[in-house]
Order: sequence, then structure tokens, then C-alpha cells
Amino acid sequence: MSKTIIISNRLPVQLQISDGGLTAIPSVGGLATGMKSVHSGGESLWIGWSGLTEEDTPPALEKDIDKALKEHGCAKVNLTAKEIEGFYFGFSNRTVWPLFHYFMEYTEFELDFWDVYKAVNQKFADAIIEKSDENDTIWVHDYQLMLVPQMVREKRPNTSIGFFLHIPFPSYEIFRTLPWREEVLQGLLGSDLIGFHTYDYERHFLSSVRRLLGLDVSFNDVYLDHRVIKVDSFPMGIDYKKFRDAALLHGKNIHEKRSDLQVKLDDHKASAPDTKLILSIDRLDYSKGIAKRINAFEYFLNKYPEYKEKVRLIILAVPSRSNVPQYQLLKKEIDELVGRINGELSTVNWTPIWYFYRSLPFENLIDLYTSSDIAWLTPLRDGMNLVAKEYIATRIDKTGVLILSEMAGSAYEMNEALLINPNNFEQQADTLKAAITMPKEEQMARNMFLQNRLERYNVEVWANEFMHALNKKSEGDDDAF
Ligand code: UDP
Repeated sequence: MSKTIIISNRLPVQLQISDGGLTAIPSVGGLATGMKSVHSGGESLWIGWSGLTEEDTPPALEKDIDKALKEHGCAKVNLTAKEIEGFYFGFSNRTVWPLFHYFMEYTEFELDFWDVYKAVNQKFADAIIEKSDENDTIWVHDYQLMLVPQMVREKRPNTSIGFFLHIPFPSYEIFRTLPWREEVLQGLLGSDLIGFHTYDYERHFLSSVRRLLGLDVSFNDVYLDHRVIKVDSFPMGIDYKKFRDAALLHGKNIHEKRSDLQVKLDDHKASAPDTKLILSIDRLDYSKGIAKRINAFEYFLNKYPEYKEKVRLIILAVPSRSNVPQYQLLKKEIDELVGRINGELSTVNWTPIWYFYRSLPFENLIDLYTSSDIAWLTPLRDGMNLVAKEYIATRIDKTGVLILSEMAGSAYEMNEALLINPNNFEQQADTLKAAITMPKEEQMARNMFLQNRLERYNVEVWANEFMHALNKKSEGDDDAF
């Protein structure tokens, strides 16, 4: 029987080694949830890195690890600390990530990183070849594995291979600066179907394929040798029901089982009923525009001083890639900015910014989403931005205002949000004012459309549509010439 093979950098399972032995805990992230319908039963296998380097894996536990992963339908690719350094922290996060998010000044073109990236992609491809058959369907995920499709294709010319990019694909003018641009495109073109979040990313990719490889492109088909490669957009959704149900339960439990965070949020509401809570949640990443947002908040308070003591900005910044130097610098910048603004503007009764540098459990995210009057998300570039969707999904009574950067992939589907340019402080100050004063009826009217769309195009539908398009492509291979 044919299987579906899913490949991503990390497996959707967390391994923990303690005195008590080994435990494997399934992750609850968006991708893992979305893939549930694809990754089920005995007909699928998920291949990826377990999160433990070879050096950190006690040899005596090798077999137990394989067994534990197998129980979750997973198989691991072993990586050394040096490989993680060059492949993940190097080429993936110091070359591709900044370049594809238009941060040319942070992009490092290091031959050593590239060499390790190629070698590790080959390891993933070899694992696929070893564990799959010719008639299996293969779905490769994201920017860490862009060479894998072609590497598999070389050995398996007739296998059906899909690739989905979870980050933006930049315009040709940016992409062309990459020294290994042709190899990356050729790597991706090993696929039968290449998916992006938005039509713009798809267009940028096709333009690079045409201009750098000189290939024929017709609508969203690329003609290469004797194959036709389909390119399409599939905007990723969220597990709508999970967020909505959690918010409903949260509403029911509000008087009995409140978290410490919820108690604090409620105390704040009780002591200052007219004060609006503005929420932002992001990984601490330069692409998210956190420092700019804090500056824009100060600009807003100076432009509209009547809102001093009437608004509070909550910033949840989740630690991320903290051994990459740019991330350490950004952390310092944000710490200082928050310190300065709070120092200058706080009063006895009011601290303008509540800043949390940590990741919070799911229940606390729901506390924040359901207690905040406004969500203010200002990425300078973002492949999608799921936080925007999650905030809207938790608004049971349909109130709440979403202010969202037009540079986020999700902005394309969330037209009823207040869309802003994160570099325009004047516009953001005015939009914050509009959000604070927006009548409830208008909030509800906007959110009704947003919620309906999120419910319909949830993450499971996203995964199924991609698989459907991939299967249709391999069934209808009569379009090959
Ligand atoms: N998130 C989390 N823990 C936290 C804060 C956020 O798990 O403490 C989740 C959040 O619910 C969302 C994801 O992290 O699903 C962030 O996804 P998004 O697309 O917004 O940005 P990314 O981090 O993928 O760039």
C-alpha cells in the first residue's frame, strides 16, 4: 500500500530524557495539527530531526528512541551539533531567513554554511529514499529543506513530490543576490507541486524561475525537461475549533478556575475600567517589527496624550534563536526601549507597557487573547502570521479590533482588519485611535466575516487541499509533454 511521507526540519514530537527514561510528547503546533488528517494511521511516516544532536543521544537509548518515535509514526534523521550549527543556525537562519524576509543587511553569504546545508539536505533525502517506495507521496516542508525535492527526484523519477514554503518568497531583485540562487530553484523544481501562502510569493518565485533559469512558465506551470511543475497558493489556516472551544471554556470558568495571569488581567480591568488593553504576541524576531511597534506606541502617546493612562500595551515576546547574534542585539534593544518608555511615562497608577519575555502555555495565550480589546501586529515581513487569526478565533462575542501589518501574508485574507504599514507611525497612531473608539457594532460586523472565513478555511482544509492538488497532479500526469 502506498504511504504519505512528510518531511520537516523538526519532528512533531518532543523527546525528553530523564532519570525515569525516555518520553515522547506530541507537539501541539499548527503544522502538527494541520497534518493530523494526512499523518494518521499506518499509512504515513513523518521524517525529521528529533531535537537531540548525536552528541546528546546516549547510545544505549538509540533503539528506545526509534521505537518511541515509531509509535508516533515518526522516524529521525541524526544530526551532529556541527551540522545543526551550519545547516540550521547558519544557512537556514543567517542566510535564507533574513534574505527571504528582505533583511539584506543581516544576510550572510557563507560558503561553509551552504556546504553544510547541502550535506544535511542530502541526509534528509537519503532518509526518504531509504524509508519510502516509488509509489509513495512525499510532502517536504519549508526553507530548511529546499534542495530535498531534487535530491529525491534524482533517485525516484516517478514519485509524487510536493513542497510547501512557510515563509515569504522574496521578489526577484532580492532573491537574485543569493550566490546559490540557481541551485535553490533547481532543488525546489524537483517537486511536482510547489505551494506558497500567497499569490504574491508564488508570482515572485515564478519570476525568478523565468529570469534566472530561463524556463518556460505558463500561468502557474513551469516546464522543465519532460515535466510540468505546478505552482500555487494555499494560505495556511488555524485549528479554529481548538481556539474557539478554549475561549468558550474560558468564559464558562471565568469565576472558578482563573489562572494567575487572568486574575492580574481582571484586577487591571476592575481598577481601570476605561483602560484598553492592546496585545502583541510574536517570537522575538527582527522580522516582527517589535522595536518599531514600541516606538510607534510612544509616538501615539505623544500625538494623542489624552490616551495616557487609558491604554496599556502588553508585549509577549517569545525567545527564539538566541544564539544568532542579531537576535541577541534585538533583545537588548527591546529591553532598553521598554525600560526607557516605562521610565519616562509611568505614573503611580499606570505602566504603559507590560513586557513578558518568555513563552506561555496555551491557557495563558487564551487569557491574553480573550482579555485584550485590540491586537496590534506589525511585522515588517511575515510569511503568514497565525497570531492574527488566533486572536479573532477567540473573540466569542465578536468584539475586539485587529490591527495588522499589510506585510503579513494573513493580511491578504483579513481585509476586515485595520491594515497598516508598520513604517508609517502617523497612520498607526491614527489607527490605534480608530481602534480604541470603534463602536461595538462595527467590531462585530468586521469579526463576523473574519471568523466565518477562518472557520471555513481551517488548517485541516489547508493540508487536505494541498494533498488533493498533489494527488490530482500525479493522476493527471498526461499534461507532461
Ligand atoms: N505561541 C506559542 N507560545 C507562546 C506564544 C505564541 O505557542 O508563548 C504560538 C502562537 O499561538 C502561534 C505561533 O506561536 O500559533 C506563532 O505563529 P506565527 O505564524 O504568528 O509566527 P511564527 O512564530 O511562526 O513566525
